[in-house]
Amino acid sequence: MSPDLNSPYARDIAHHVHPQTNLRLHESEGPLLIDRGDGCTIIDAEGNRLIEGMAGMWCASLGFSEQRLVDAATRQMQRLPYMQTFAHRSTDPVIDLATELTAMAPGPRAGESMAKALFACSGSEANDTAMKLVWYYHHAIGRPEKRKIIARRRGYHGTTIAAASLTGLPNMHQDFNLPLPGVLHATCPHFYREGRPGETEAGFTDRLVQELEALIEAEGAATIGAFIAEPVMGTGGVVVPPAEYFPRVQDVLRRHGILMIADEVICGFGRTGAMWGSEAFGIRPDMLTCAKALSAAYFPISATLVSEAVYEAMRAESDKLGNFSHGFTYGGHPVGAAVALETLAIYRERDIVSHVRRVAPRLQDGLRALADHPLVGEVRGVGLMAALELVADKDTRASFPAARKVPGYLAACIQKRGVLLRGRDDGLLFSPPLTISEAEIDTILAAVATGLDETLAWLRS
Ligand code: PMP
Repeated sequence: MSPDLNSPYARDIAHHVHPQTNLRLHESEGPLLIDRGDGCTIIDAEGNRLIEGMAGMWCASLGFSEQRLVDAATRQMQRLPYMQTFAHRSTDPVIDLATELTAMAPGPRAGESMAKALFACSGSEANDTAMKLVWYYHHAIGRPEKRKIIARRRGYHGTTIAAASLTGLPNMHQDFNLPLPGVLHATCPHFYREGRPGETEAGFTDRLVQELEALIEAEGAATIGAFIAEPVMGTGGVVVPPAEYFPRVQDVLRRHGILMIADEVICGFGRTGAMWGSEAFGIRPDMLTCAKALSAAYFPISATLVSEAVYEAMRAESDKLGNFSHGFTYGGHPVGAAVALETLAIYRERDIVSHVRRVAPRLQDGLRALADHPLVGEVRGVGLMAALELVADKDTRASFPAARKVPGYLAACIQKRGVLLRGRDDGLLFSPPLTISEAEIDTILAAVATGLDETLAWLRS
């Protein structure tokens, strides 16, 4: 790190708070300063080229130098850089995006798509909006006591007060006085960690469904408004559910008049090898939230999509109250909408879902080939999202103590070989741009294999 107090490194330490970072450690480590992007690669301030194995934060789906998105943003900025969508105002890109998104997103019944789109700027805002709409909906249909929301342990839904409450990761609650009352967390379908000795995956699914049923009974179905889930959990460790899990969960929810919210913030737009994670895992949502790959991360934009039935209730309630009193200054930003429209056009033209299906086996099979490594407990994943879970003992599945910082050491070894990955909790997460090539996947795999050996040598030394 440069000793120059005016260097960007020193000023970052002096003036900038980094989210999801050990703040004290940052003062000694300093930032990884990223200068520019080139396809799936980023180039740091010292000129090192790194393949972005996480697409930034699961979001830079088209890499870092897509000129068409720059042009779409520029055109819209020149024409109309901002307009609100409050009080009946609208713009062409917002109308086109709402039309396209609602037509493509799965609705609550087979063959049905979503009815309406409500825009915001982040996944957290989209999920906060969904939570408020659950309450609004149940007020509208005369069931205001249906206020509780069931989320799942290990789930990640964002960082605002409501979204962090829905999130099922203890460090997102600790010392923030969260979760809010009325948010319940069920067991997640993580067979490797939550399955019991001798239990089959089918038996595990049965148990989770029974637990859900029991939770609803204990709390009272009349008090529960919605269930929210990522089709495949991302941040919580790329937890791919058993095939039967969501259809059976959804049966339980329908019987009790509980809405299903699909958080497609990571899974949406091809990440799992289907356009929507809901399609891949048998979810028929009443509401769907999306963000990230919606604009390939070139502009912050998110959407909460609602079914016809939810919208009808919203309309009635807003009429009764005189106004639908929700919305953000930058919700439906025309530049974000223009970038998102261009992103969706690129997905269509390049058939991004087929590309993901073509290259995903290279990543998934390549990582599974590392499963025999002494440090690897399990490799999980689908499409272009994966996790490699590290264990101190393969038989007992014991994790390394957090203080040893084993995933961080491994990620640093991998970074030396030109690949940027995220070491988190007890493993590594993978979510490269959807445009990644097989050659780039091979580079990632080689870096991971070498990194694992180096980490093992370090642990043994
Ligand atoms: N939902 C999921 C599934 C996410 O992964 C994230 C972000 N990683 C969010 C919601 C929150 O999105 P944001 O950070 O844009 O608020």
